[in-house]
Amino acid sequence: MPALRHLLKQQFHKAIATLLPCSCVLCGKTCKTLVCPECHLQFFKDSTSRCVQCAIPLISTSANPHHCGDCLSTAPNFDHTIVVCNYVAPSDQLILAYKFGHRLAIAALFAEMLRDAALKEHQQSLCDVLCPVPLGRQRLIERGFNQSLEIAKPLSHHLGVALYPALLHRSRETAQQSSLHPDDRHKNVRNAFTIDSTAIELIRGKHVGVVDDVMTTGTTLNEIASILKRFGAAKVSNYVFARTPLH
Ligand SMILES: [Zn+2]
Ligand SMILES: [Zn+2]
Repeated sequence: MPALRHLLKQQFHKAIATLLPCSCVLCGKTCKTLVCPECHLQFFKDSTSRCVQCAIPLISTSANPHHCGDCLSTAPNFDHTIVVCNYVAPSDQLILAYKFGHRLAIAALFAEMLRDAALKEHQQSLCDVLCPVPLGRQRLIERGFNQSLEIAKPLSHHLGVALYPALLHRSRETAQQSSLHPDDRHKNVRNAFTIDSTAIELIRGKHVGVVDDVMTTGTTLNEIASILKRFGAAKVSNYVFARTPLH
């Protein structure tokens, strides 16, 4: 039934798109998609060589072709990160339109691009279950939706991987990571998440995928991977639309 509902929703959105002209979120040109084919080609055909673990762009002189220096010296708790693009202009406009302009249709576009990025990585296995980074209660009331969950829903469908929306909870409100000095970010999210007790059996020995819209330093995702592994997850991969390119 959820598959049928998803299909009907897709058909509805396609029908609306053919009836209503709209403009590209990035360049403003009239088109029938959220991002015109030209912008898509220019900004989202990412051929950047990235660290497999944290997805930071690797410099051409890197000694290791797969991992950045930071991951080699202090390995994060997650094993793998899939991203679509860097969090830079103009692709950051999509995130802003989505999160603060409440253009929820953009979540479907993010999910499609994340699916393509995930399927491109042949040597990495797909995760067994997906979950979103949870929002605190207060932030959820303010925004009205969890941006990670809205991406995770269509991504789960595209990848054929089960989604557990309430696998993780925020046990307390945290300050926005982007507002904090990097040194304070770890303290801000330490012990900020809990796992639903009924879901522990679902992740034991499993490869868990964690969905988020933006990865900045990776501190939040690292804390989440830590708790998932403490409760028995065998492997944790992040599925993130945009990555801030510098630590
Ligand atoms: Zn465009
Ligand atoms: Zn790395």
